[in-house]
This record gives sequence, structure tokens and C-alpha cells, in this order.
Amino acid sequence: MKKRKIACHDCDLLMLIPHLKHRQEAVCPRCGFILTRFYQHAPVKLLAFTLTALVFLTFSLKFPFLIFSLHGNEKSLTLIESIQSFSNINYIFVSILLFSTAIVIPLLFLLSIVYVSWSFNGRGLLPFTPQTLKFALLILPWNMAEIFLVSILVSLIKIMTLANVNFGLSFFSYILFIISLSATLMYFDRYQLWSTYQLKLRKSYG
Ligand SMILES: [Zn+2]
Repeated sequence: MKKRKIACHDCDLLMLIPHLKHRQEAVCPRCGFILTRFYQHAPVKLLAFTLTALVFLTFSLKFPFLIFSLHGNEKSLTLIESIQSFSNINYIFVSILLFSTAIVIPLLFLLSIVYVSWSFNGRGLLPFTPQTLKFALLILPWNMAEIFLVSILVSLIKIMTLANVNFGLSFFSYILFIISLSATLMYFDRYQLWSTYQLKLRKSYG
């Protein structure tokens, strides 16, 4: 693959990325920022973990997320209902923020990766491939599903003194979704993806 000059994401230093072996990373000599990490068969692994994360996210929307029991009465909440219950009308902003960072943004991010992977694996590039990749990179820092889970668990400590709380099928599915999402992020590499795009673009135009 032809070497491409890139600017460090943190300090803007221009440099050439050398050819990397499996699990090797390129680090900025000025600020130590990890520019890229190369994994063999990364595109296949990226797509596999993305699809796995999508399946677990879909599952976690369907079944009970938390089950409360108090004096023999049982009430189960889905993931969306749990988000709603953690914020009332005074905290509508918190509710929107939680809903976005826990469900909407990860969903859009994963769907963008599916689209880009599909485009890279086809004969020619699909329309809006660079825009979709840019969009995925833009929303990447807003993938905060694990922060949502921690905030739920912290809130539960208080509730557990008042009622019996059990975790539903969705809760475990959501944990598996977070693990799959973390694996997806490991293989989602800005430099490698843009390099693949450039390579595909050159091939498309002969
Ligand atoms: Zn740097």
C-alpha cells in the first residue's frame, strides 16, 4: 500500500506512517498520540463485532431490563422505560442525553460502519461512503453506553434499599452489547479506514 502523509490528530505534526505488522501501532513522535494500530483481517473483525453489537442492542430493547418487586408486587421496565424513569419532567435534558448516548448514537454509529464495510466490500464504492465514514468519526466520542450503565447501577444502589431489584434479559443483553461495541471500537481505526477508502477510490477510477 502506498504510504500516505497524515497529520497527528492531537498536535498536527505531519508524518508518514510506516508499514505495520499485526498488532503494531504508529505513535506520534512529538506528543505520543496513537495514530493507528494495525490488525490483520481488521475489516472482517470490525463488521463481525458491529453486527454482533447490533443484534444485542436490538435484543436489549425488547425484553425487561429491570424488575422491581415490593410487597409481592412486581413491575418490570424495558430499557427505554428505565431511561424515562431515571428522569422526570425537570430532567428532560438528562433523559434525552441518556437516550441518545445509550441507544441512538451507538445505533447510528454501528449502522454507519455496516454501510461503510458494505461499500468497501462491493465492486465499487456506494454513494455517500466518505460522508458516512466522516459521520461515524464525528459521533465516535459520543458512544457512552458504558457510562449510562454505570449511572444506572449507581442509581440502583439507592433503590435497592427500598425495593428488591432484579436484572432482566435485556440487562444482560445490554452488557453483551457494550462488550461487542468495545471490540468494534478496537477495530475502528481512522487511518486504516481512510486508507482503505483511498485504495478503493483509486481502484474504482482504474
Ligand atoms: Zn502528535
